[in-house]
Amino acid sequence: MDRQQEFVLRTIEERDVRFVRLWFTDVVGTLKSVALAPAEVEGAFTEGLGFDGSSIEGLSRVFESDMLLKPDPSSFQILPWRGEDEPTSRMFCDILTPDQEPAAADPRFVLRRQLDEAAEMGFTCYTHPEIEFYLLKSEELDEQGQPVPADRAGYFDHSAGIVAQDLRRQTVNMLESVGISVEFSHSEAGPGQNEIDLRYADALTTADNIMTFRTIVKEVALAHGKYATFMPKPFGEHPGSGMHTHFSMFEGDTNVFFDPSAEFNLSTTARQFIAGVLTHAPEFTAITNQFVNSYKRLWGGGEAPSHISWGHNNRSALMRVPLYKPTKGGSARVEFRGSDASTNPYLGYAVIIGAGLKGIQEGYDLSEHVTEDVWSLTTAERKALGLNPLPSTLHDAIRKMEESELVAGILGEQVFENLLRNKQDEWDEYRINVSPFEVNKYLGMV
Ligand code: GLU
Ligand code: MG
Ligand code: MG
Repeated sequence: MDRQQEFVLRTIEERDVRFVRLWFTDVVGTLKSVALAPAEVEGAFTEGLGFDGSSIEGLSRVFESDMLLKPDPSSFQILPWRGEDEPTSRMFCDILTPDQEPAAADPRFVLRRQLDEAAEMGFTCYTHPEIEFYLLKSEELDEQGQPVPADRAGYFDHSAGIVAQDLRRQTVNMLESVGISVEFSHSEAGPGQNEIDLRYADALTTADNIMTFRTIVKEVALAHGKYATFMPKPFGEHPGSGMHTHFSMFEGDTNVFFDPSAEFNLSTTARQFIAGVLTHAPEFTAITNQFVNSYKRLWGGGEAPSHISWGHNNRSALMRVPLYKPTKGGSARVEFRGSDASTNPYLGYAVIIGAGLKGIQEGYDLSEHVTEDVWSLTTAERKALGLNPLPSTLHDAIRKMEESELVAGILGEQVFENLLRNKQDEWDEYRINVSPFEVNKYLGMV
């Protein structure tokens, strides 16, 4: 038993914690949870808790179904929304095989392995996510089959009495009480759309924080009789919900993306990182934009990127170099705007960082940055500028991913195969579905 584990056991006793939830994530990023009695926690630390991995999407097959959950004591937190009466806590878990080896199909392990590779190159990766979501009146749809936004506030609106303000304040307080710092929160462009930006942290901590964040946002909404969704594009006519993420890399205390003598203060390492991400973006789009619905966001306007480009302070680009004070070299970073709010953060960060590192390892050249508004260009103009499209459907994205040696290597064979199977099943289900759009359009036409 190490000191962190002992600290957890002591806290459970002192705070009279009634339940300890063990959290982990399946291949599509759904949070899974099992509640333990306090007396069982010591055994979970030493031997792990056995469970049936074949019942978890993308984890293991029936004939190798025994898996173990090993709680990470550094992630221990009391869950504030469960109240004081019967304190409930949680720990994130690593998934192990029965012989105590990391399970190859555990998304948390996939990211950890990628970050270890970065560490071997001397880098620590930091991430800062901007998470958008819609707040709805309820899960119920209106007579037209549409979700109903909780309010009509627009970008940065401060309107008296709107429910979202209260709700964001409570969410931020709860996040801070479980040790997750928030930088900004504001109302976004769509009606009922909100954004909360988490303070940067190392990429694994950020991924854990995003899972906690989604849970807290949903819990707080429910407590107000509302419903929160991270669906990428719930309304055809309003912007989708992105999960833009800022990436920076440090060698010790030095931000290696910063070079005060270079254009935009962007070091060669940063340029190579961007080039890696842009080059491989189509191969990993099925991960950063994993649902049929994700492509309605990418191709539906509303400030989501549809073409592969980078720019300085240009919101139509897939990657953006944000403005910051050059005196604050430590905050040099690049923003990836492709991923949507539904991304499995472990796999999403693993592939983005993996592609960036590939750019650094191979010394990729970076194309010219774009100064134009990419959305307003014609197809011919985009072609002349060499701006290629991202995959336009989940089907396209699956085809690109299955040919990618890079993505196969980052995910490992099991996750790669499981994810491709899962996404193909989703596409097959979608392509035989006859939508209300089709019935309305064609029934009377022909
Ligand atoms: N909602 C937009 C998206 O889907 C982003 C808007 C913004 O720049 O914050 O990516
Ligand atoms: Mg935003
Ligand atoms: Mg952004």
